[in-house]
Amino acid sequence: IPVDPFDLVIFGGTGDLARRKILPALFRRFCSGQMEDESRIIGAARSDHDQAEYRQMVADAIAEFNTSTTCEAGTIEAFVERIDYVHVDAKGEEGWDKLASMMHPNRVRAFYFSVAPSLFGDLAERLHRHGMADGESRIVVEKPFGRDLDTARALNDVLAQHFDESQIYRIDHYLGKETVQNLMAVRFGNMLFEPLWNSQYVDHIQITVAETVGVGGRGEYYDRSGAMRDMVQNHLMQLLCLIAMEPPAQFDPDAVRDEKLKVIRALNAVEPKDMVRGQYGRSEDGSDYLKDVENPRASSESFIAMRVGISNWRWAGTPFYLRTGKKLRARASEIAVVFKETPHSIFGPEAGRHRNILTIRLQPNEGMDLDVTIKEPGPGGMRLVDVPLDMTFAEALGPEAEDVPDAYERLIMDVIRGNQTLFMRGDEVEAAWAWTDPIIAGWEERGDRPVTYEPGSSGPEDSLALMHRDGRRWREIK
Ligand code: NAD
Repeated sequence: IPVDPFDLVIFGGTGDLARRKILPALFRRFCSGQMEDESRIIGAARSDHDQAEYRQMVADAIAEFNTSTTCEAGTIEAFVERIDYVHVDAKGEEGWDKLASMMHPNRVRAFYFSVAPSLFGDLAERLHRHGMADGESRIVVEKPFGRDLDTARALNDVLAQHFDESQIYRIDHYLGKETVQNLMAVRFGNMLFEPLWNSQYVDHIQITVAETVGVGGRGEYYDRSGAMRDMVQNHLMQLLCLIAMEPPAQFDPDAVRDEKLKVIRALNAVEPKDMVRGQYGRSEDGSDYLKDVENPRASSESFIAMRVGISNWRWAGTPFYLRTGKKLRARASEIAVVFKETPHSIFGPEAGRHRNILTIRLQPNEGMDLDVTIKEPGPGGMRLVDVPLDMTFAEALGPEAEDVPDAYERLIMDVIRGNQTLFMRGDEVEAAWAWTDPIIAGWEERGDRPVTYEPGSSGPEDSLALMHRDGRRWREIK
């Protein structure tokens, strides 16, 4: 279904994020007929380009980064017809009048702040001064949203001077993933799971986000952040919230975000014994963490594993194990809800121990599996085996289910539609920092240093011990 005609301005339209993610996502929505002919995309950045040069840059970015095969040849040319460029300086007066003159009256206006957060205040203020911050305007901001509670508050305050909370879209692209939304559909659209979704039936939950890459060219940025700030405070926290939250009364933005906020507020403080931090050592390609971040004494972490508890009626006693890291064995992200064993096995000890596991895969092959225990076929007696029930339904839903849209496609269209359900509210982000800050302060006070782990492994040995100690095991990263 096409969305209403819009003017979308991408501040930082020449940057890496715009070229790799935002523009290819808009292109794919264009291909699928969601953009009306009148809609306009305006790149706005500090470098000087004319319209033709910028259109060429966009065409090149799409040729390089678009992964979908469903767009027909010739569509890139048609897409770039909708693109303009304006040279603006967030910190100066240049370009702002021109940008204002390019806006169409009575249209949805969205301003994507794909620039460093230090420019958010300047952009918001100049949009306001040049008459572009009216009630129909929306702004989209990217991570990192602060580096602690104080800086996040300061960003919220600066945006709030010119925009209402209902106009601010804080992106966490994990929420735009198809399977993450499917998780809510499975939880709240079925009778089958919700009655079992609590500490009485769930033994524990594992959330893993594993990457094979190192810090790459982002070393300096990464050293100031580390996995806790870069991944746990936002992405893993959002996944945890969707798993743990109570059913909202409606699927609407504030109902959903209220429930997520309650989860964050119920998180326990994490004790040092329940955390393992790591830095990858030297790998065959010559990289090693301390070298990559160009700081031989860096105490930031490229890996973290932690055991987190939630103090509420539903989850008291059920641990959530979170783990994320770089230079690991495989690029694999999943949530596993591991149910308890049956209270008594009528098949005797030789039938072994079995558990139902609901796995939500974010990467690779987005989808879901439910492991169920059945009888092993054949005449060998009552031997039990666990088999996955594939809940991806690619076959049942046909080819459309296989061309999974990128998270950014979904999220940008939600901005145009004015739907904030899959975006973080200001108080959620602040609550997440309020939980994260004391953990990081504890490392700093104690002078904790991460342990070294072997690149291509599953992370530090100590992170395996974190589970073994509780009589549990991490699922294999594969
Ligand atoms: P980048 O350095 O590649 O691009 C920055 C853009 O900002 C350029 O277009 C530049 O012209 C513009 N810019 C800089 N100063 C300006 C000014 N004074 N006035 C107007 N424009 C100005 O950065 P990026 O990687 O595209 O990242 C943009 C933002 O998105 C950052 O906040 C980053 O943390 C965040 N982010 C990036 C990624 C990613 O994959 N690249 C992922 C998540 C979040």
